[in-house]
Amino acid sequence: MSGLYLHIPFCRKACTYCDFHFSTSLQTKPAVLEAMHAELAQRAAELNGATVETIYFGGGTPSQLTDAELKAFIDQARTLFTLTPDAEVTMEVNPDDVDAEQLAVWKSIGITRLSIGVQSFREERLQFMGRAHDAAQSRESLRLISAAGFASWTMDLIYGLPGMTMDEWNEQLDTALSFAPPHISAYCLTVESKTALDHQVSKGLVTMPGDADQAAQFERLIERLEGAGYVQYEISNFGQPGHFSRHNSSYWKGVPYLGIGPSAHSYNGTKRRWNVSHNLRYAQGISAGTTYWEEETLTPVQVTNEALLTGLRTSWGVDLSALPLDLLEARSPTVVHYRSQGLLEHSDGRLVLTKAGRAFADRIASDLFLTDDR
Ligand code: SF4
Repeated sequence: MSGLYLHIPFCRKACTYCDFHFSTSLQTKPAVLEAMHAELAQRAAELNGATVETIYFGGGTPSQLTDAELKAFIDQARTLFTLTPDAEVTMEVNPDDVDAEQLAVWKSIGITRLSIGVQSFREERLQFMGRAHDAAQSRESLRLISAAGFASWTMDLIYGLPGMTMDEWNEQLDTALSFAPPHISAYCLTVESKTALDHQVSKGLVTMPGDADQAAQFERLIERLEGAGYVQYEISNFGQPGHFSRHNSSYWKGVPYLGIGPSAHSYNGTKRRWNVSHNLRYAQGISAGTTYWEEETLTPVQVTNEALLTGLRTSWGVDLSALPLDLLEARSPTVVHYRSQGLLEHSDGRLVLTKAGRAFADRIASDLFLTDDR
C-alpha cells in the first residue's frame, strides 16, 4: 500500500456544483472522528504495518478540523504504519480557513503540502458557485501560503463557467500565475446530478456554455501553463518539475490505497471497496460492528478498463505490459484509427495521448474499453 486517504465530511457551506459527500452541520463530528480512528486501527491491523508514502486529508473541508483533531490522525498513522521519512502529507484547505498563524501550526504538525480551493478570483463567480470565501480571501490566502515554506502547494481553479469569456479566463490565469504556485489543478465546471447547479440549469435559471467554449478554455489553459514551465502530467493537473502530487499519481498508476471515513474508497490491487456516504450510518456501523461498506472484486476486463481510463489521462500513459489482458490484440483497429488521426501514440510498450488527443481522453479511453466478450 502506498497512500492513506482520510475523508473529512464537513463543509461550512454547500457549493452549488459539488456532489462530494459532506455535511454543513458539525453535529455528527465527534461520532464520525471517533469512528474514523476506529476504522483506521482496524484496517491497519489487517494490513499488518504497511508502508505509507502519502497521506491525504480530503473532503469535505479538512480545514474544518481543529489542529488537535488533525494531529491525532497523523500521530495515529505514525504508530500504525511505517511512514516513509519523505512522506507527502497533503491537506485540502479553503481560503477562509487560512491565516499566518494557522499555516505555521499545520506545518508544525506534519502537513507538507496544501491544496487550496481558490476556484476563482472574481467575487460574482464565487457567489454564483456558493463558495464560503470572497475574492480578497482567495488572494490573501495565496500570498500567505506562498510565503509559509511548505514543501509544495497547489490551487484549484474552475473554468467553463456560464458566460466566461477568454479575457476573463486569461485574467484568472494571470492572477493565478502571479503567485507562482508549484502546482495548479484546473477543472471544467460540470453539472452533476442532484446538485443545486443541476436544479438551476434544469429550471432554465443558468445556461451552461457550449462544448466549443469549454474546449477553447482548456486549450488556453494548457498553452498558458506549459508556456510558464508547468507539465500537464494529468489532464486537469499541472506541476512544476518535482511538484507533481505523489498521492494522486499513485491512484492513476493503480497502486493500492486505503480510504478512511464516510464515502471513502479503497483499492487493494484486486478489490475496490467504498464506505457508506452517510455520516451516522458510517459511525453506527463501526460501533455496532456491522457492515458499513460495499466492495467488488475487479475482473481482468475491469482492471484493464480502469488502467485505460486513468492512464490515458496521464503523461506517462498506459503500460500495456502491466495489463492483465492483451488490449492490442482486442482493440488494434481502434488504436490504429486514433494513431492515424494523430491523437494517440504507441511506443515502448505504452499508449500515450498526443497533445491533440488530450481533449478527447475520456472518449478515446471508452472506445478502447474491453467488454466481457472483448
Ligand atoms: S468546499 Fe469542496 S467539498 Fe465542500 S461543498 Fe464546496 S466543493 Fe464541495
